[in-house]
Amino acid sequence: MIDIHNHTTFSDGRDSADEVVRSAAISGLQVIGISDHFDPYVSRQDVCLQPNEIDAYVKELEELKGKYQIKLLSGLEIGLQSMGIVWPGVEFDYYIYSVHTVPGLPELKDLEDPWEIYLDEVIMAVELIDRPGFLGHLDFLRRHIPGAMPPSPGAQMDMLLRKLVENDIGLEMNTSGWLYNLGDSTPQRWVIERYIELGGHLITLGSDSHRAVNVGSYISKAIGVLKELAVKQVFYAENGCYVPFNIQEMV
Ligand SMILES: [Zn+2]
Ligand SMILES: [Zn+2]
Repeated sequence: MIDIHNHTTFSDGRDSADEVVRSAAISGLQVIGISDHFDPYVSRQDVCLQPNEIDAYVKELEELKGKYQIKLLSGLEIGLQSMGIVWPGVEFDYYIYSVHTVPGLPELKDLEDPWEIYLDEVIMAVELIDRPGFLGHLDFLRRHIPGAMPPSPGAQMDMLLRKLVENDIGLEMNTSGWLYNLGDSTPQRWVIERYIELGGHLITLGSDSHRAVNVGSYISKAIGVLKELAVKQVFYAENGCYVPFNIQEMV
């Protein structure tokens, strides 16, 4: 199994990178990716990597590669914004591209229905992506808005998913929706299904863990859903190249 969305004490995770990778190895994952926050656009900079911390972060991950019986990837959950992506100055194996806020509208989570504004921002911002990676937790705002209302199927969602396909950007199936008792993955199954219908195949898996004990949580449940959708491979990226990972044999 793979899990390429995990946080450590380098951003808002509770446990060290060593503890997270060790937990992943013990739980039998084959591939683990560390993806701490780097997002100059959010107000909570105390829980994001700062530019002067990037070197130490990279060094720590390099030192951990090979320490445990597991493939370790260095990643970054990078703030995606239509105003421009602020790159860290160092290349990572892959990026999780996440829109956490919309410029000029910091209180997105207070809106009853943020979806039109949010998806517009994502559609504009994905045009700026020029390195391999995966769009993170597409409907994560469900965690915060009344009734956990999801976005609706329609032209706007189709436009976004088409852009991902055309620009060779992957889609993350984030399993934290199950952890937070939303009842399904983030995004929901129909979004994954529509992405596939529109020609997408670069699906990845991430738990979005903030504690070592949660690494890999609900990944097998997500694989079960993907198998129902006849998906045979998920993907991670190493050194900037997409790598397939066969899920047909996994339980
Ligand atoms: Zn995020
Ligand atoms: Zn995250």
